Amino acid sequence: MERTFLAIKPDGVQRGLVGNIISRLEAKGFQLVGLKMLQVSRELAEQHYAEHKEKPFFGGLVDFITSSPVVAMVWEGKEVISTARKMIGSTNPLSADNGTIRGDFGIEIGRNIIHGSDAPDTATREIALWFSDAELASWKSTTAGWIY
Ligand code: ADP
Ligand code: MG
Repeated sequence: MERTFLAIKPDGVQRGLVGNIISRLEAKGFQLVGLKMLQVSRELAEQHYAEHKEKPFFGGLVDFITSSPVVAMVWEGKEVISTARKMIGSTNPLSADNGTIRGDFGIEIGRNIIHGSDAPDTATREIALWFSDAELASWKSTTAGWIY
Protein backbone atom coordinates (compact mmCIF):
# COMPACT_ATOMS: atom_id res chain seq x y z
CA MET A 1 0.00 0.00 0.00
CA GLU A 2 1.23 3.49 -0.88
CA ARG A 3 2.70 5.75 1.82
CA THR A 4 3.44 9.47 1.93
CA PHE A 5 5.26 11.87 4.21
CA LEU A 6 3.42 14.92 5.56
CA ALA A 7 4.69 17.52 8.02
CA ILE A 8 2.67 20.22 9.75
CA LYS A 9 5.01 23.20 9.72
CA PRO A 10 5.63 25.54 12.69
CA ASP A 11 2.80 27.87 11.60
CA GLY A 12 0.28 25.01 11.49
CA VAL A 13 1.31 23.81 14.95
CA GLN A 14 1.26 27.31 16.45
CA ARG A 15 -2.16 28.06 14.99
CA GLY A 16 -3.67 24.91 16.49
CA LEU A 17 -4.39 23.20 13.19
CA VAL A 18 -2.88 19.80 14.03
CA GLY A 19 -6.18 18.18 15.00
CA ASN A 20 -8.07 19.61 12.03
CA ILE A 21 -5.46 18.37 9.56
CA ILE A 22 -5.30 14.88 11.06
CA SER A 23 -9.12 14.76 11.08
CA ARG A 24 -9.32 15.54 7.38
CA LEU A 25 -6.95 12.73 6.46
CA GLU A 26 -8.65 10.23 8.80
CA ALA A 27 -12.10 11.18 7.53
CA LYS A 28 -10.94 10.71 3.95
CA GLY A 29 -10.05 7.14 4.83
CA PHE A 30 -6.27 7.24 5.03
CA GLN A 31 -4.42 5.47 7.80
CA LEU A 32 -1.90 7.08 10.15
CA VAL A 33 1.18 4.86 10.44
CA GLY A 34 3.78 7.29 11.84
CA LEU A 35 3.50 10.40 14.02
CA LYS A 36 5.92 12.52 16.02
CA MET A 37 6.55 16.10 17.06
CA LEU A 38 10.12 17.28 16.76
CA GLN A 39 12.35 20.29 16.68
CA VAL A 40 13.99 20.06 13.24
CA SER A 41 17.79 20.44 13.01
CA ARG A 42 19.30 22.61 10.27
CA GLU A 43 20.91 19.48 8.85
CA LEU A 44 17.55 17.70 8.50
CA ALA A 45 15.87 20.81 7.06
CA GLU A 46 18.64 21.28 4.48
CA GLN A 47 18.46 17.61 3.45
CA HIS A 48 14.68 17.68 3.27
CA TYR A 49 14.63 20.79 1.07
CA ALA A 50 17.85 19.98 -0.86
CA GLU A 51 16.10 20.42 -4.23
CA HIS A 52 15.59 24.12 -3.36
CA LYS A 53 19.19 24.79 -2.28
CA GLU A 54 19.81 27.38 -5.00
CA LYS A 55 16.49 29.21 -4.59
CA PRO A 56 16.44 32.70 -3.07
CA PHE A 57 13.96 31.58 -0.41
CA PHE A 58 16.05 28.59 0.75
CA GLY A 59 17.68 30.31 3.76
CA GLY A 60 14.37 31.71 4.98
CA LEU A 61 12.68 28.35 4.48
CA VAL A 62 15.28 26.52 6.56
CA ASP A 63 15.15 29.25 9.26
CA PHE A 64 11.39 28.92 9.41
CA ILE A 65 11.13 25.14 9.48
CA THR A 66 13.74 24.98 12.30
CA SER A 67 12.17 27.85 14.28
CA SER A 68 9.78 25.77 16.39
CA PRO A 69 8.42 22.20 16.46
CA VAL A 70 6.77 20.48 13.52
CA VAL A 71 4.48 17.42 13.47
CA ALA A 72 5.86 14.77 11.13
CA MET A 73 3.55 12.04 9.85
CA VAL A 74 3.41 9.06 7.54
CA TRP A 75 0.02 8.23 6.02
CA GLU A 76 -0.94 5.12 4.13
CA GLY A 77 -3.66 4.32 1.59
CA LYS A 78 -4.70 4.06 -2.03
CA GLU A 79 -3.09 6.84 -4.08
CA VAL A 80 -2.33 8.70 -0.85
CA ILE A 81 0.60 10.65 -2.35
CA SER A 82 -1.36 12.49 -5.05
CA THR A 83 -4.58 12.64 -3.03
CA ALA A 84 -2.88 14.21 0.01
CA ARG A 85 -1.30 16.79 -2.33
CA LYS A 86 -4.79 17.58 -3.64
CA MET A 87 -6.10 17.92 -0.09
CA ILE A 88 -3.15 20.23 0.74
CA GLY A 89 -3.66 22.52 -2.28
CA SER A 90 -1.32 24.74 -4.29
CA THR A 91 1.96 26.00 -2.86
CA ASN A 92 0.69 29.59 -2.68
CA PRO A 93 -2.28 29.58 -0.28
CA LEU A 94 -3.79 32.58 -2.09
CA SER A 95 -4.25 30.50 -5.22
CA ALA A 96 -5.09 27.23 -3.43
CA ASP A 97 -8.71 26.11 -3.86
CA ASN A 98 -11.21 26.53 -1.06
CA GLY A 99 -11.63 23.20 0.69
CA THR A 100 -7.90 22.50 0.62
CA ILE A 101 -5.78 22.89 3.75
CA ARG A 102 -3.73 25.77 2.34
CA GLY A 103 -6.78 27.32 0.65
CA ASP A 104 -8.77 27.28 3.88
CA PHE A 105 -6.08 28.39 6.32
CA GLY A 106 -3.32 30.37 4.62
CA ILE A 107 -2.29 33.62 2.98
CA GLU A 108 1.53 33.55 2.81
CA ILE A 109 3.57 31.25 0.55
CA GLY A 110 6.28 31.08 3.22
CA ARG A 111 3.67 30.13 5.87
CA ASN A 112 1.70 27.49 4.01
CA ILE A 113 1.03 25.20 6.99
CA ILE A 114 1.94 21.77 5.70
CA HIS A 115 4.40 19.83 3.56
CA GLY A 116 3.48 16.79 1.48
CA SER A 117 5.65 14.53 -0.67
CA ASP A 118 5.02 15.20 -4.35
CA ALA A 119 5.77 11.80 -5.97
CA PRO A 120 6.55 8.16 -5.12
CA ASP A 121 10.34 8.65 -5.20
CA THR A 122 10.24 11.74 -2.96
CA ALA A 123 7.82 9.99 -0.57
CA THR A 124 10.24 7.08 -0.20
CA ARG A 125 13.19 9.43 0.32
CA GLU A 126 11.38 11.66 2.82
CA ILE A 127 9.90 8.80 4.89
CA ALA A 128 13.41 7.30 5.24
CA LEU A 129 14.88 10.71 6.08
CA TRP A 130 12.39 11.50 8.86
CA PHE A 131 11.44 8.10 10.32
CA SER A 132 13.22 4.90 11.32
CA ASP A 133 11.52 1.58 10.52
CA ALA A 134 10.78 1.09 14.23
CA GLU A 135 8.79 4.35 14.28
CA LEU A 136 6.40 3.14 11.58
CA ALA A 137 3.42 0.96 12.41
CA SER A 138 1.60 -1.47 10.19
CA TRP A 139 -1.86 -2.15 11.54
CA LYS A 140 -5.29 -3.40 10.56
CA SER A 141 -8.60 -2.36 12.06
CA THR A 142 -9.99 -5.05 14.37
CA THR A 143 -13.24 -3.22 15.16
CA ALA A 144 -15.39 -5.88 13.47
CA GLY A 145 -17.17 -7.64 16.30
CA TRP A 146 -17.16 -4.82 18.86
CA ILE A 147 -18.43 -1.76 16.92
CA TYR A 148 -22.17 -2.11 16.17
P1 ADP B 1 5.34 22.52 -2.14
O1 ADP B 1 5.50 22.62 -0.64
O2 ADP B 1 3.95 22.86 -2.56
O3 ADP B 1 5.84 21.22 -2.70
P2 ADP B 1 7.77 23.71 -3.26
O4 ADP B 1 8.39 22.35 -3.20
O5 ADP B 1 7.82 24.44 -4.55
O6 ADP B 1 6.24 23.68 -2.78
O7 ADP B 1 8.46 24.64 -2.19
C1 ADP B 1 8.77 24.16 -0.89
C2 ADP B 1 8.35 25.18 0.13
O8 ADP B 1 9.16 26.35 -0.02
C3 ADP B 1 6.92 25.69 -0.01
O9 ADP B 1 5.97 24.86 0.63
C4 ADP B 1 6.99 27.05 0.62
O10 ADP B 1 6.88 26.97 2.04
C5 ADP B 1 8.40 27.50 0.27
N1 ADP B 1 8.39 28.38 -0.90
C6 ADP B 1 8.19 28.00 -2.19
N2 ADP B 1 8.23 29.07 -3.02
C7 ADP B 1 8.45 30.14 -2.22
C8 ADP B 1 8.61 31.53 -2.47
N3 ADP B 1 8.53 32.04 -3.70
N4 ADP B 1 8.84 32.33 -1.39
C9 ADP B 1 8.92 31.84 -0.15
N5 ADP B 1 8.79 30.54 0.15
C10 ADP B 1 8.56 29.70 -0.86
MG1 MG C 1 7.75 20.44 -2.87
